[in-house]
Amino acid sequence: MRTLPPGATIGILGGGQLGRMLASAAAELGYRTHVLAPDRESVAAQTASSLTRADYHNRIVLADFAAQCDVVTYEFENIAVEPVEWLAEKVPVHPSPASLRVAQERIAEKSFVAGLGGRPAAFAAVGSRAELDAAIAEVGTPAVLKTTRMGYDGKGQARLRSPADADAAWEAIGGPAVLEAFVTFAHEFSIVLVRGADGAMVSYPPPWNVHEDGILARSTLPAPAEVAAQWTEAAALTGRIAETLGHVGVLTCEYFATADGPVFNEMAPRVHNSGHWTIEGAVTSQFENHIRAICGLPLGDTGLTAPGIEMENLIGDAWERWSEVLAEPGAHLHLYGKREARPGRKMGHVTRIRR
Ligand code: AMP
Repeated sequence: MRTLPPGATIGILGGGQLGRMLASAAAELGYRTHVLAPDRESVAAQTASSLTRADYHNRIVLADFAAQCDVVTYEFENIAVEPVEWLAEKVPVHPSPASLRVAQERIAEKSFVAGLGGRPAAFAAVGSRAELDAAIAEVGTPAVLKTTRMGYDGKGQARLRSPADADAAWEAIGGPAVLEAFVTFAHEFSIVLVRGADGAMVSYPPPWNVHEDGILARSTLPAPAEVAAQWTEAAALTGRIAETLGHVGVLTCEYFATADGPVFNEMAPRVHNSGHWTIEGAVTSQFENHIRAICGLPLGDTGLTAPGIEMENLIGDAWERWSEVLAEPGAHLHLYGKREARPGRKMGHVTRIRR
């Protein structure tokens, strides 16, 4: 892959906060960014150089977008693969649609990772109510029934404490779904890894991630000893996933730290909420490293800038605490420019640097 020098235009599919922070990082390196998103409110467009507001399936728009961009990336994995594949025939797309395809479907994702020696929770595919009973017999309870596609932030999931919960779970989720054994874990953590166009890889020290109602609430570094002990194994698996997919850019894998070692939960072929701390907490942020990777530049240092770092998500009304946060020494406020706060909506985050 040839190096794209600063001044080139990076296309970003998707208009959310990840695109917003990618566009800021790109601007710092002297690149232009062009966001393509259908949403009425695209917060990425507030920091990008230009915006096309259109449906991803409009071929005329896509052709025009491809002609205006030197490389294209995406900021969310629930985009349909077809337009991304179509774009990839016209302009380099990183990460490739292959990464997108695997990450979009939970059964394909778990099977792929298991094939590389990773350990997902025990799981069984569920296409009908009868198959749910068979899956419960195989996987046991407690368990979680998840839609195979389009799940995020705990959406599309139902917990089963016992087989008696099967009817309610099926009603809530339906099929196609996957039943996963409930994992008993000490901590959750993630590996945010970057793979360059030349195959070089770097990854960040793993944050300890705490979820509330299925949504990431906080990431803390350094992580507890149980996580540190599983870092090498999880990072090696994440590296094998990236290499096998020929992934270029950031790849994030989420893990449960269990008594038997790291259990793979899911992957995202993109920058990730559990890597937001890297903006102030690492020498090179995940956003800058993603831009470096997709432009064929050398990757940046992933070392920490302080002994202790905490990222807190501002969800729903929590963003109203912005003036308190500004008064805190060592706190960095990030608000995403969203007009309306809804319960569960990520409005911003705070990074606290502890020296
Ligand atoms: P997911 O969208 O699959 O990442 O799930 C969101 C959150 O729900 C995870 O970060 C965990 O806190 C929890 N969770 C999901 N699946 C499981 C599982 N199989 N066992 C235990 N907790 C889970």
